[in-house]
Amino acid sequence: MKAVVYKEPFTVAVEEVADPRIEDPNDVIIRVTTSAICGSDLHMYEGRTGATPGMVFGHENMGIVEEVGSGVASIRKGDRVVLPFNVACGFCKNCLAGKTGFCLTVNPGFAGGAYGYVAMGPYQGGQSEYLRVPFADFNCLKLPPGTEFEDDFALLADIFPTGYHATELAQVSPGETVSVFGAGPVGLMAAYSAILRGASRVFVVDRVPSRLSLAERIGAIPIDYSKGDPVAQIKEHTNGEGTDKGIDAVGYQATAPEGEEQPALVLNTLVDTVRPTGALGVVGLYVTEDPGAPSESAKQGELLFAMGKLFEKGQRMGTGQANVKAYNRQLRDLIIAGRAKPSFVVSQRIPLQRAPEAYEKFDKREEGWTKVLLKPQQ
Ligand code: NAD
Ligand code: ZN
Repeated sequence: MKAVVYKEPFTVAVEEVADPRIEDPNDVIIRVTTSAICGSDLHMYEGRTGATPGMVFGHENMGIVEEVGSGVASIRKGDRVVLPFNVACGFCKNCLAGKTGFCLTVNPGFAGGAYGYVAMGPYQGGQSEYLRVPFADFNCLKLPPGTEFEDDFALLADIFPTGYHATELAQVSPGETVSVFGAGPVGLMAAYSAILRGASRVFVVDRVPSRLSLAERIGAIPIDYSKGDPVAQIKEHTNGEGTDKGIDAVGYQATAPEGEEQPALVLNTLVDTVRPTGALGVVGLYVTEDPGAPSESAKQGELLFAMGKLFEKGQRMGTGQANVKAYNRQLRDLIIAGRAKPSFVVSQRIPLQRAPEAYEKFDKREEGWTKVLLKPQQ
């Protein structure tokens, strides 16, 4: 089958790889109809991780069940399903508590499992024609048959639940004000989720005009950080107090404003932006190793987080991979009921063959390349 294969930093290619097969009675094989490219793929694409040449990317997958292992009870050939990016067993301590981003069976002591991701298990990615889904009864979310809502449902694999998770970590409540740093797909989904949860005003910080205008389109207030200090801009809107809640959807790979060499740690900016006793939800990725970092300590993932300020302001912070399964069923039902339409972020739907171009443009945060859906069957 054809798949998106990592070659070297800044290069992927579409190549022939072996078809996946049932390896365990609990597996199913799906024919992938949509697999999205994620900001998380870019860390590997840029050569900042231990991704090895030949690896198949793709953790945001949906498709039609093609083959079913003998131990699978609830999934049938022909079912349309979306897969959480987390590969989880469903029976360990963390899975039983709904913390499926930290499954202890597939990855004890670390950040759970995922398809096509370094250090998150042996699971091949789904930017390919077919995909093996382990623990299929637990990991498949069934969708209505047909093709309706395909783009919306595709976003249930990661970014819609991840954005929602950010608002859950920050405990966004009705009437509150929220700052979201990053208007990438994840930040936009966090802003959208904050609005769904009844936030009164949501500020979204970025510098890419097309991304900021999407924020505006859903009713958020765009804040362009290339035009001045975002903290000051948000405080001006909030009587100098800052917002009740804050979300980091940028992570360690922040870009500095024009004229500044070193980007400030978004996390520190967020502490400044949120009012005393407010809460922060951090879903932007922070890593334990960043070979491209400017200092030795930063290479080890040690960043200068202003803990003193967090203490002084009595704020709370939640962080980590999203537990997609904790939210995907409810978010699916909002889509079916017409109450949520996350696909407003989708900018391209293109055949798998065009993945190399899409990676390049998305990596450069080019205007108009916000969220790319790859279509392996086209
Ligand atoms: P992305 O990386 O393109 O989004 C980041 C956005 O932040 C970009 O639009 C960029 O212009 C903006 N940005 C950069 N520096 C900034 C700064 N200093 N201030 C404000 N904005 C700034 O794509 P994405 O898919 O939205 O991913 C965002 C982050 O979320 C990535 O780190 C990704 O790895 C992470 N992620 C985490 C989870 C999870 O489960 N926790 C899941 C998916 C993605
Ligand atoms: Zn993702």
